[in-house]
Amino acid sequence: MSAKRDLEKGQLHTNVNLASFTSWQLGGNAERFYWPLDLEDLQQFLKKLPADEKITWLGLGSNVLVPDEGIKGMVIITQGALKEMELIEPTLVYAQAGISCAQVARFGARNNLVTGEFLAGIPGSVGGALWMNAGAFGGETWQRIEYVDTINRQGEIKRRSPSEFTIHYRKTEGLAPNEWFVAGAFRFQPGNGEEGLANIKALLEKRAQTQPTGEPSCGSTFKNPPGDYAGRLIESLGLKGHQIGQARISPKHANFIINLGGATAKDMKEMIAFVQQKVKEAYGIELHPEVQRL
Ligand SMILES: Cc1cc2nc3c(=O)[nH]c(=O)nc-3n(C[C@H](O)[C@H](O)[C@H](O)COP(=O)(O)OP(=O)(O)OC[C@H]3O[C@@H](n4cnc5c(N)ncnc54)[C@H](O)[C@@H]3O)c2cc1C
Repeated sequence: MSAKRDLEKGQLHTNVNLASFTSWQLGGNAERFYWPLDLEDLQQFLKKLPADEKITWLGLGSNVLVPDEGIKGMVIITQGALKEMELIEPTLVYAQAGISCAQVARFGARNNLVTGEFLAGIPGSVGGALWMNAGAFGGETWQRIEYVDTINRQGEIKRRSPSEFTIHYRKTEGLAPNEWFVAGAFRFQPGNGEEGLANIKALLEKRAQTQPTGEPSCGSTFKNPPGDYAGRLIESLGLKGHQIGQARISPKHANFIINLGGATAKDMKEMIAFVQQKVKEAYGIELHPEVQRL
């Protein structure tokens, strides 16, 4: 088993612990693991993979629950690998899947583009944001997408438009089996970059006041049910601070579950089930996890 810093890109690795690749900092090993050098390297790698090998994609790991027993098959990671970003038209930012949402927001503002500021506080990658339709402060990823580029198992790249996808709250449908995002083109509005950067700063401050941003979590564990907030429901039951193993419901924001250090995926699963049961008993509402169980 190798530490994250020792993992060479462009090499196939086995039994790689994924805890350091997730914001919850827990979970077992990837049976096989590939960290591409770049898009071209990824294309070549995919072409050579056995057709029946299961592939799991990871961006920045900020919304995943990796099981303690690990992940069978291949894990491909985009962070630090698909990392190109450019302004391809005066208001169109093209960002590969491994670029962080924060980088897109700042790059936009530095190029005097606004409407992307909401992305700044989402600690995920472009690929993860497309998959999740990540959003904050009234903005959502796909509202800004002009087109995406995807890759398949043969390493072929395809350009697709938003009309080919069905976009939901924190869910995107329309990728074929064995098709994944490699880039997104974000259309922003022209504006005042200084104001954009100030807006980003204000949004980050607001987030830090209301969320335990410095502690290991997956952000909001549950999706908000229609017309309500998961955090409000959980808090109303007095569950802030509730602990199972090393997993604790954040005293700052009840929809955040914190890894106190050494929490297992089992602790998290138990906590998720416990909260679902309590909310169901009290309100008859089914809470659905936002976090992706791999
Ligand atoms: C402190 C904190 C705050 C957060 N705040 C917000 C918020 O305000 N709004 C919000 O929406 N989310 C928020 N999140 C959740 C998370 O940041 C987003 O869901 C983000 O979009 C996930 O991106 P990622 O790169 O980390 O994805 P990962 O966690 O790596 O993966 C998430 C899912 O996307 C899939 N995936 C990843 N890359 C690709 C790809 N290239 N192609 C296809 N599928 C892919 C994975 O297989 C997995 O199913 C927060 C998380 C944390 C820890």
